[in-house]
Amino acid sequence: MSKKVEIEASCPFCGFNQTVTFYSSVNVSLEPELRVKIFEDEINQFVCLHCGKNCLISADLLYHDMDHKFAVWFCPKGEIPEEEKKMSEKIIKAVGLGDYLIKAPITYSWDEFKKKILEFEKQKRTH
Ligand SMILES: [Zn+2]
Repeated sequence: MSKKVEIEASCPFCGFNQTVTFYSSVNVSLEPELRVKIFEDEINQFVCLHCGKNCLISADLLYHDMDHKFAVWFCPKGEIPEEEKKMSEKIIKAVGLGDYLIKAPITYSWDEFKKKILEFEKQKRTH
């Protein structure tokens, strides 16, 4: 249930365009290697082929761990609009996924995002 697309991204430093892979959701229970990629900073960021700088793709990403039953949002652009939230709640309910998805915390920076994932994993392990 990971969702990825190829998009044309432009470098915020030099404006160079290149095709990169973007994930809008990552399910680490089905694809554990994606968790590794997140912690190696290889998801939703790319190295510009022109200037060599590391660029973050500023779009929302949902991290989903079914085994540990938690999810975390990464929203680099800020708060998720209310409408979008309601829409995803509907989808979550329709698909019959857990409530924890609705309660998924929102993080605004990549470091915060990774920290939250580690916190959840720690909590779930001690239970
Ligand atoms: Zn560049």
